[in-house]
Amino acid sequence: MGLDAAMDSTFSTSDTRTNLVGLSREALTAALVEFGEKPFRAKQLWHWIYHRGAKDFADMTDLSKELRAKLPEHFVVARPTIAREQTSTDKTRKWLVEFNDGQKAEAVFIPEEDRGAVCVSSQVGCTLTCRFCHTGTQRLVRNLTPAEIVGQFMLARDSYGEWPTPTDERRMLSNIVLMGMGEPLYNFDNVATALKIIMADDGIAVGKRRITLSTSGVVPEIHRCGAELGVNLAISLHAPDDDTRSMIMPINKKYPLKELMQACRDYPGASNARRITFEYVMLKGINDTPAHARALIKLVKDVPCKFNLIPFNPWPGTSYECSDAATIDAFAQTLWEAGFTAPVRTPRGRDILAACGQLKSDSEKLSVKEKRLREAEEAWSEKEAAL
Ligand code: SAH
Ligand code: SF4
Repeated sequence: MGLDAAMDSTFSTSDTRTNLVGLSREALTAALVEFGEKPFRAKQLWHWIYHRGAKDFADMTDLSKELRAKLPEHFVVARPTIAREQTSTDKTRKWLVEFNDGQKAEAVFIPEEDRGAVCVSSQVGCTLTCRFCHTGTQRLVRNLTPAEIVGQFMLARDSYGEWPTPTDERRMLSNIVLMGMGEPLYNFDNVATALKIIMADDGIAVGKRRITLSTSGVVPEIHRCGAELGVNLAISLHAPDDDTRSMIMPINKKYPLKELMQACRDYPGASNARRITFEYVMLKGINDTPAHARALIKLVKDVPCKFNLIPFNPWPGTSYECSDAATIDAFAQTLWEAGFTAPVRTPRGRDILAACGQLKSDSEKLSVKEKRLREAEEAWSEKEAAL
């Protein structure tokens, strides 16, 4: 990535300094060399930024005083800001994260007993329009940059004071799931740069086995994800046949189930020890009958997999309902009897609209027509006020 492309938007728009957060190791080294420094400085800075969580060059005590004074002339170590933070009664915490162009996305921390997963967003909005998903009602505004993706995890660490990077046994923020807003495989390059930074041992150090990328099924990118990143794969399956799936997930018309299943069989590193997760949202009367369960079992044969049954999380304006508890139990039982792991995921953070598929920031990209309309309305009300 060239430096210009890496110039990030997590600090004031008038600031021309380069944000070091989000630069790949190579790009960080190149930036420092260009600045007249020796390449080994990159290792020191990496340690301060990603292992220690430093935000200020002044704190980087093993750099010479001179260098500490010089670096801020050209560089910053910037994170996005928090526009709003909410904590649920079940301790799930949600951040509305604001980037420096004013766009917003959400990140969520889902604590378990002694560990937990940070759910990060990859885009503001989403191009896809899965009918049951709140994010899907929001247009795609833009892709997030590597800095904005890594920055979400760093913010979560700031919030829990989890710096420097703790050893594996002692960390609360142990896992990362790309299950926030957006389709990560439609922003693959930035997601890949971000995840490589997150996985590096001498920094944030969350290993590939603790990272899960969830996709709605962007078939051409699935292989790359396994080959280049080696992270766990989750597929939003949600239906066992093309008709039902295309109805609730329009992307299925582009990449139908046959191709999707083949991509799963070919996923690098998938094995019985490392199974692919099929997410299945339980929608009343749509995909939840015993016949659907049987079709599902047939569909996934030959794929080393497990299921995650997600009770549908309602959001304002949806026309779907969640399947009854007894229906979900029966569905799980059928899968279980066929030899599959199929836990029903307990919804977390419902009271703060932080559960799966409920994320939706208030930033909306307006179409040109809508923009003109809004401008006309504003001009009109200004005129009225002046009268
Ligand atoms: N775009 C990616 C990742 C984000 S969505 C994807 O689609 O996989 C994370 C998960 O939540 C997906 O499995 C998605 O299908 C599911 N989901 C979306 N809306 C939901 C809702 N209202 N209730 C429950 N799960 C939902
Ligand atoms: Fe986008 Fe995933 Fe929601 Fe579908 S389920 S609209 S792909 S975020």
